[in-house]
Amino acid sequence: MAIDKNCELCGSDNGLSEYKVEPKEDTIVMCETCLASVDTPAENETHWHCLNDAMWSEVPAVQVMAYRVYSRLGNQEQLDMMYMEDEVKAWAEQGLEAENREPTRDANGTILVEGDSVSIIKDLVVKGAGFTAKQGTTVKNIRMVQDDPTHIQGKVNGSTIFIISAFLKKL
Ligand SMILES: [Zn+2]
Repeated sequence: MAIDKNCELCGSDNGLSEYKVEPKEDTIVMCETCLASVDTPAENETHWHCLNDAMWSEVPAVQVMAYRVYSRLGNQEQLDMMYMEDEVKAWAEQGLEAENREPTRDANGTILVEGDSVSIIKDLVVKGAGFTAKQGTTVKNIRMVQDDPTHIQGKVNGSTIFIISAFLKKL
């Protein structure tokens, strides 16, 4: 099948191929440079400045790829600016979960997942937030931290904070 457009991420016409945006069937056209580092974008970080334009695409599959690359780069600033329908964002997240790394474990070695409730097992001074998260505090609906299995994110005293998972016990 002939490809009748340029790379949908950077606009290049070099070595184009179709790329399936799992787990859906939608495809986008990518050049060989984008394809080579889409899974490990930090190796070619300057190339991904192209997403400054692509992130505003109206094509959901392109938004998904921009979101995944920014996530892999840990570029929260750009992620915060992106506008995506909830459904598209969920699609983007699915691809990131699939490549998941080390599991996050609590003090007993139990694996923690998104949405778990945990209890804090020792007093923790929260740097920058000006309070201590007390031993025995329950943290509900925890979130995983991208690229960091040693921490979780959760709400304590109304503030969303990062907590070392080894100081937690799953409830
Ligand atoms: Zn490209």
